[in-house]
Amino acid sequence: MFMVERLLLGTMEWLPEDWVPSVVAVDIDGTLTDEHKRLNIEAVGALRRLESHGIPVVLATGNVRPITYGLWRFIGLSGPICCENGGVLWSPDWDGAVLRATKDEARAAADWLAERIDQLNAEGIWSNQWRESEWCLKPTEDLAAIQSAMAESRWSNLDVVRTGFAIHLMDPVISKGQGLEALAQRHAWSLDEMLVVGDAPNDLSMFAAAAWSVAVGGAFPEVAEAASVVSPFPHGETFAPLVQAIVERLEHSG
Ligand SMILES: [Mg+2]
Repeated sequence: MFMVERLLLGTMEWLPEDWVPSVVAVDIDGTLTDEHKRLNIEAVGALRRLESHGIPVVLATGNVRPITYGLWRFIGLSGPICCENGGVLWSPDWDGAVLRATKDEARAAADWLAERIDQLNAEGIWSNQWRESEWCLKPTEDLAAIQSAMAESRWSNLDVVRTGFAIHLMDPVISKGQGLEALAQRHAWSLDEMLVVGDAPNDLSMFAAAAWSVAVGGAFPEVAEAASVVSPFPHGETFAPLVQAIVERLEHSG
């Protein structure tokens, strides 16, 4: 290990004093992956290490359920998954998924928008074929035109939110924070025991909901600002030292 990293690790306080999480919720894009969407393999090892110490890992993501389920399965996690930014919840302990909203209204709104806005493509982004709780238009569509049309429509109750990959038409009950609260209730967890890790504005609601939040290096400035701690390591490189700190804390407390 390079001396500079050793120094950073030595001075870095990853956790509050006398506290260790019993659940860890983790964003995927930009958090476990780099800016080219490549999964950090060391981060996968670190998440497995948490699980081997009895700490369930929850994937909390904007991704649809089939994609999140695949990653959950192949990493070998035991926790539930929080997909579509909290719109869709699933746990291996349940009979089926919980949809906190349905896509039907948002899909109808997209068709209506296509009649009003020249060249708007109601089919939206390719992963809509698996989407269950919202509908996503292409990020290149005219956001201002969509927002003003939606505000005067029968779908004015829906939120219109732009992220890096889409313009989301979504029910306001959808957020990662509200999704994790619903998961915590079903699993009898306290959010006071939860540590969350993320990089982008769609992580802010879970930062607010959980006891402790870590922004990875490369996070959006407002996300780093809101976090309990900011990792000195980019994206997925955050996990090996963070998990090391958690395991050390467990061993010293146990
Ligand atoms: Mg992200």
